[in-house]
Amino acid sequence: MKFGTKAIHAGLEPDPSTGAIMTPIFQTSTYVQEIPGVNKGFGYARGKNPTRLALEKNLAALENGKHAICFSSGMGATDAVMKLLRPGDEVITGDDLYGGSYRMFTKIFAPYGIKFHFINMTDANNIRPYINDKTKLIWIETPTNPTMQIVDIEACSTIAKEHNLLLAVDNTFASPYLQNPLDLGADIVMHSVTKYLGGHSDVVMGALVVNDDKLHEQLYFILNSCGANPGPMDSFLVLRGIKTLHLRMERHCYNGRKIAEFLKTHPRIEKIYWPGFEDHPNHAIAKKQMRDFGGMISIVLKNADEQETYRIASSFNVFSLAESLGGVESLINHPATMTHASIPKEEREKVGVVVNLLRLSVGVEDVEDLIEDLAQVLA
Ligand SMILES: *Cc1c(COP(=O)(O)O)cnc(C)c1O
Repeated sequence: MKFGTKAIHAGLEPDPSTGAIMTPIFQTSTYVQEIPGVNKGFGYARGKNPTRLALEKNLAALENGKHAICFSSGMGATDAVMKLLRPGDEVITGDDLYGGSYRMFTKIFAPYGIKFHFINMTDANNIRPYINDKTKLIWIETPTNPTMQIVDIEACSTIAKEHNLLLAVDNTFASPYLQNPLDLGADIVMHSVTKYLGGHSDVVMGALVVNDDKLHEQLYFILNSCGANPGPMDSFLVLRGIKTLHLRMERHCYNGRKIAEFLKTHPRIEKIYWPGFEDHPNHAIAKKQMRDFGGMISIVLKNADEQETYRIASSFNVFSLAESLGGVESLINHPATMTHASIPKEEREKVGVVVNLLRLSVGVEDVEDLIEDLAQVLA
């Protein structure tokens, strides 16, 4: 089955009791047992819920994976992966990560005795010198947030396999429509479902997708033991959102390209980050591992101090100034004070998250209106 058909049908059956075409919202915490220990496959809703189960099957299909597990947020999903580790274990990860991932690694898991190496991953060979017998996991994000660096998933997977390490990929920015890390050799795909998968800025959710049965069992054990499970209503909203994922992504990519081209030559722009440009340092890898280049674009404003950057960020008519991304509406974000505020200034600036950097999540509105909006704020 091709992607759009899977988005609409995979994992979904008409409800057997009524024929309802949409999976019902099973708003229940528990399930009646016939005799103690015998149930219809559902015991208690932290562990399993039919609405969530339908979504998990759908997500697994979209990532060409065998198993998916949904969590109450992207961070809940990341937390479960980190709980596979034990004190003394080491992780190699990127130096341009979602701020919340950086905060969790440094403030929650480092104090438990897990060591993190934050390195430039734009060349996968940079990973090699950091591998030792304590290394257990490589955690990558590609494209990165917010500077749109591209990491070669297949090259990372080759290295991970040579050393028997797990490779996890935060696939939030690409969505399964643009990139399928399991096909490139990754062991775990993580999504902030909140973003493109949900797509309508009305749900917070996360997911992990894997092929390995044992890994699935371990991660499911963590979900059920630690309790970061999403509710049935949110599962329903995401199932509904995913039905148009391929249509939305096509438009995100189309609008993203038009806007990137408009901004590239604009006199108020000093620098633009978008992997679709041929002069992007890892354009060839992006082209190899992604189906298109998406609607996430970051720009550095020319000669703009903090005040001028704030003025511009607050002057849009169609774009809204807000955290998050991947919804139908276009958003503008100021990483230094918003999504990446939890990263120390020196660390942030080293990777280009400067005070005059803005990140655009290009929505699916009519692109002429978006360009007009950008033109008026940058005039
Ligand atoms: C938003 C985001 C997360 C965190 O997901 P939540 O659903 O907000 O918990 C992780 N990684 C990336 C790249 C994100 O954009």
